[in-house]
Amino acid sequence: MPLDHQLPPAKQAVLDQIASGFKLSQTKLHEITQRFLEEYALGLSAYNHPLAMIPTYVTGVPDGSETGTFLALDLGGTNLRVCEIQLHGDKTFTLRQQKYKVSEALKTGEASALFDYLADSVDHFLTEISDSQISNEEALSLGLTFSFPVEQSAIDKGILLTWTKGFAARNAVGKDVVGLLQDAFDRKHLHVKCVALVNDTVGAMLSRAYASGDCMLGAIFGTGTNGAFAVKVEELTKLGNDPAVAKGGLMILNTEWGAFNNSRSVLPSTPFDQKVDRESINPTFQAFEKFISGLYLGEITRNLLLSLVDSVPSLLFSGLSTPTLNSHYGFDTAYMSAIENAKTAQEVKQVLVENLGFKLEAISDDDAAIVRWACETVATRGAYLSGCAVAATMIQTGHAQLGGGSGPEEKILKVGVDGSLAEHYPGFQDRVRQAIRLIVGEEVESRVEIAMAKDGSGVGAALCALQALKQAPSRP
Ligand code: ADP
Ligand code: MG
Repeated sequence: MPLDHQLPPAKQAVLDQIASGFKLSQTKLHEITQRFLEEYALGLSAYNHPLAMIPTYVTGVPDGSETGTFLALDLGGTNLRVCEIQLHGDKTFTLRQQKYKVSEALKTGEASALFDYLADSVDHFLTEISDSQISNEEALSLGLTFSFPVEQSAIDKGILLTWTKGFAARNAVGKDVVGLLQDAFDRKHLHVKCVALVNDTVGAMLSRAYASGDCMLGAIFGTGTNGAFAVKVEELTKLGNDPAVAKGGLMILNTEWGAFNNSRSVLPSTPFDQKVDRESINPTFQAFEKFISGLYLGEITRNLLLSLVDSVPSLLFSGLSTPTLNSHYGFDTAYMSAIENAKTAQEVKQVLVENLGFKLEAISDDDAAIVRWACETVATRGAYLSGCAVAATMIQTGHAQLGGGSGPEEKILKVGVDGSLAEHYPGFQDRVRQAIRLIVGEEVESRVEIAMAKDGSGVGAALCALQALKQAPSRP
């Protein structure tokens, strides 16, 4: 069976009806982008808006000439990594890393246990993996990439506002996460000093700038989604009399765009999205993220597939499911990637057999075609919404206009991206670009350069640690 398999008209009609709820017209894309700009403006002017637009106190963007050796600890949502980065000063670097697993018990238990585990992981890395000489005089400098909403008050200080992405550790919200980590290092007598707190979006932006000399936007499309870009400090009116304002220049902002439009006034919710939200650990929050990112795309698709299984008469798998497909978060976004990558219906079926426990003979050609259609429908909408975020940032920074027309300079607009979705999901970038074209026009879109921010969170944390040492009052 080829992949353009024709479904019986009655089935096709039902799918078309569902698809219409997922489709984003050009008018709708403009409306969403417009709303994005409004929420950006609110977040720049005052605290306590859903789009937090968090000042990072990172006031320099690297150009590739930076040097030094640093440790980085990256707590992303799905993975914990410890890295050692040597910046060579010629846009290149060497990186050694080790991944560690964060159990569900640690994610939802006491924060001190979670931070002790982070310190243990650094300890293990230093004894087993690292090359660094641990000296008694100078502590090793570490940048913490902490990809959760934090209200920063200095480059090495920030209060956790809320957990996202399935974390809910007790006694962390409202506390300084650098302090929590440093206390754990000190409890274990590790000669390591956490000098910088970095969001992974900022890391992506810094590392892309290090590798290519410049970067307009750092964006994450992994377990969650978020973006960072630089503004002139005077535009950050909510900073008031903060000393950073007097210094002038640029400051990188962590937008926390995962919380865009939490009111859902413009987001295209379907019943499948409402169910994801209702059953999530943070209902009504992180609305935008729930349409876009790796944690949720599979779950939306699972809800959609089950509604077809359960419809009367059944439209999918003859009304049968499997324990995996029945379980919450049982359909990983990585399966969608594999299904969209499949060249034949046989390969689609193989993914379902291997990952979801279906018997091969229980899957018809119609079933394979419907599953593939569902993945494409959900993932395309997510990528289009991602395009709204990128386009809104281009407009906000003066590089584009809603509906077409460029900014004053016709330069290459560099976007550094990180995350498994951006890296592995087939067609992700093409779909993002299609949306950008529909929002800001072809000419501007043709100047957008989207590239992976290689090892963004590690290298970005190193660059930020370097900035912190530069910005710090001189030490004896
Ligand atoms: P983190 O967000 O923790 O830094 P990643 O960027 O690796 O981690 O993102 C992990 C998320 O990406 C998970 O939600 C997972 O479902 C999804 N994912 C993993 N592999 C793939 C893939 N091949 N295609 C699409 N999504 C994937
Ligand atoms: Mg990450």
